[in-house]
Amino acid sequence: MSYDPSNVFARILRGEIPCKKVYEDAHVLAFHDINPQTPTHILVIPKGAYVSFDDFSAKASAEEIAAFVRAAGQIARDAGLDQPGYRVLSNMGRDGHQEVPHFHLHIFGGRPLGRMVP
Ligand code: C5P
Repeated sequence: MSYDPSNVFARILRGEIPCKKVYEDAHVLAFHDINPQTPTHILVIPKGAYVSFDDFSAKASAEEIAAFVRAAGQIARDAGLDQPGYRVLSNMGRDGHQEVPHFHLHIFGGRPLGRMVP
């Protein structure tokens, strides 16, 4: 699947659509999900044009991958989630029910999340 530059997260990255930003650096942007599923629900996205986790894991540079993972952990700590704990998740493709075709990591927290299903 080729990258669609009109997807909503590409538009957020270009500043065409607002977001509630929580973090930004050279490689990464993070913002509050517009439809939060938990008291804290943050989306972490790379600035590079990657469709999905599959695309990112295959094509991103080691620098981009390291920056992304470091940032995600820091964002969760800064949100105060590391002690009670939290969940990270990335939906990938049709069966993974990915809706936005720009790779993103969900950070869920702020309440006990229960057992992961499935
Ligand atoms: O992982 P998936 O692609 O299904 O999730 C996309 C997420 O992007 C949803 O949780 C949705 O609420 C969020 N979203 C957002 N801001 C937008 C459009 C979608 O936070 N403008």
